This record gives sequence, C-alpha cells and structure tokens, in this order.
Amino acid sequence: MTPEELVRPEILALKAYHVPEAGNMVKLDAMENPYPLPEEMRRELAQVLAAVDLNRYPEPTGRRLRELLARTMRVPAGAELLLGNGSDDLIQMVTFALARPGASMMYPAPTFVMYGVDAVLSGMKALAVPLREDYTLDVDAFVALMKARDPALVFIAYPNNPTGVLYREDDVVAILRAARGVVVIDEAYHVFAQKSFMPRLAEFPNLAVMRTVSKLGLAGIRLGYLAAAPRWIEQFNKVRQAYNVNVLTQAAALYVLERIDVLEAQAARIRADRAELGAALARLKGVTVYPSQANFFMLRVPDAARTWEALRRQGVLVKNLDGPLLRDCLRVTVGTPDENRILLTALREAL
Ligand SMILES: *Cc1c(COP(=O)(O)O)cnc(C)c1O
Repeated sequence: MTPEELVRPEILALKAYHVPEAGNMVKLDAMENPYPLPEEMRRELAQVLAAVDLNRYPEPTGRRLRELLARTMRVPAGAELLLGNGSDDLIQMVTFALARPGASMMYPAPTFVMYGVDAVLSGMKALAVPLREDYTLDVDAFVALMKARDPALVFIAYPNNPTGVLYREDDVVAILRAARGVVVIDEAYHVFAQKSFMPRLAEFPNLAVMRTVSKLGLAGIRLGYLAAAPRWIEQFNKVRQAYNVNVLTQAAALYVLERIDVLEAQAARIRADRAELGAALARLKGVTVYPSQANFFMLRVPDAARTWEALRRQGVLVKNLDGPLLRDCLRVTVGTPDENRILLTALREAL
C-alpha cells in the first residue's frame, strides 16, 4: 500500500516544519542569541564534554540539572520540574497526556504553531481564539469560550510568538481563574520580558510554567523545562521518552547554567539593542512595528513577499509570516548592533 493509503489523513495534510538554509546570511529568522560564549568558557566546556561517558545512558530525569534549574530559575518550593528535549518536547508531552477522546485545547491566535501541530498529532480539538487587531488579548472572548467549551488545556505564550506582544498580567490571571483544565504559560522569552508567572505557581493548582534555554543562547543543545505541582509532573513524566535529554545536553547545561550571569549579560545587551532597533524600525516609512517584549519584532510592510525576497538578495534572512491572520507581516530577530544596522540598511532598500 502507499503512504497516502496508510498514513493518518491529518498527518498527510500537515507540512513538515520548514527551516530555510541560512548559509552565511545575516540570520535574523529564528530568535537566536547572536553572541557566542566567551572563548575561555568554550575551551573549558570542551574539557567538560570530553569527560562525559558517551557509552552510558543519561540519568533519565536529569536530577542534577533539575536541581540546578530549580535554584537558578527560582522555582518555588512545592513545584517540581520536568525536562524536555527543547520545550517542543514538553508541549507534546502535556498534550499527549491530556488528549482524552473529545478533549480540547485552547490558545489565542496567531501564536506558536507547535500547539496546533500537537493538537493534530494527539487528536485533541484545537480552539484558536483570535487576538484583537493590535494582537492584544481579547480576554472576554477567551474566557467566554473557555466557559462554553471547558478546554482540558490552554496555552498562553507570554510574550507571544510571532507578535512579541506581552499580554496584561491581569488578563492572564482571569484565564487562570476561569480554567478548570491545565494552563501552560509558555515563557520562552522570559529573559527579554522580565515578567513571569513562576512566582505565582502556588496560587493556581493547574498552572504549569514552561521555559526553554533556546532563546537565552543555547538553542543548539535542545533543553526545555516545565514547572508545575507534583501531581501534574507525575502524570506528564509518564509520556516522556525514557532518555529524552541526552548526556551532552545535560553536561553542557550544567556547565553553562552555573555561569548564567554570562547569558544574562548578553540578554541585557539584547534588551537595550531592542529599544534602539524598535525605534529605528518605527521611523521607516510604510512600516508598522508592533510593541515587543521578546528578542524580535513583528513588522507589517506594504508587500511582505517582495520585502522578504529583497532582504534575502541582500544577504539578510528574516521570517515571512504572511498569511490570513498576519497579512504582510515579517518577523525580525534582534541581532548584534552590526547585524541590526545591516538589517535597517537592507530594509530601506527593500521596502
Ligand atoms: C521558540 C519557542 C519555543 C520552542 O523552544 P525550544 O525549546 O527551542 O523547542 C516554544 N514556545 C515559544 C513561544 C517559542 O517561541
């Protein structure tokens, strides 16, 4: 038989996540931290990794790493951590655990695409609640639909990707109060927003705070963590693939997170450059810049496809978001000051 006959129809209808080849372009499409680790740390890290026993399976739950994360990320007492092979892995674990027949997942849209993908893979019904025209949260509509549909799972990206908008804390609290299911606050950009629900975990028994080290400067090692009450972690942990966080990732994370001040200084630099880049982008004629608390900006331009192509020809790679929900929008990562200058110059050409 053929794939068309055997593969589940909802999977046949999906498109694999596409990542364009960056070559030696200025890469501003994926919210990566543009700064490498200092040379001395790279050398020391090489020695740490050389000593890792690659012939042994990892400690399955990453105990030492969980302890270090709990300390450095101020996870409140009473909450437990679950580690993922990136937070994409955690989104999948939570979704698969809650995908009872007929269960639904809710999220404001547009947002991070993986929530919807995992709804499809798990058979959960996805309920996407449109954001307002300025991409702020329509909390009344959201809570009304929650009351009508009683979702088992809610995802709130805080701040949101791909818009960069940080919702009002009170609005998120209204959702937490209305929820009977699990609410995952996805704080992939917490170092840039400097706002978090981590300190409020104990207030809401069904709240889970999810983070990743990807945007902080460690996208390559694939590590995410989810903090929640033990009774939730106990269940989600059953869905986890036995050795989902490999020995090299655990060793590298242990080494770098002991020196988190280095990454935090880089993030502070990016926050300062974000302010400057945002102001410069806003001065471009014909461009609408949405306010961002993340390490990227969403822009609306007169013709996204044309501008994207013109940037590419000038060696600058950004993300084209153009579609029904995000007409003529591009997303640009905050890079180094040099990269930001190159982007601005190229954009002036490209508009
Ligand atoms: C980048 C991103 C993630 C994925 O992070 P990984 O840990 O790299 O898988 C999750 N959520 C949001 C909102 C993101 O922007």
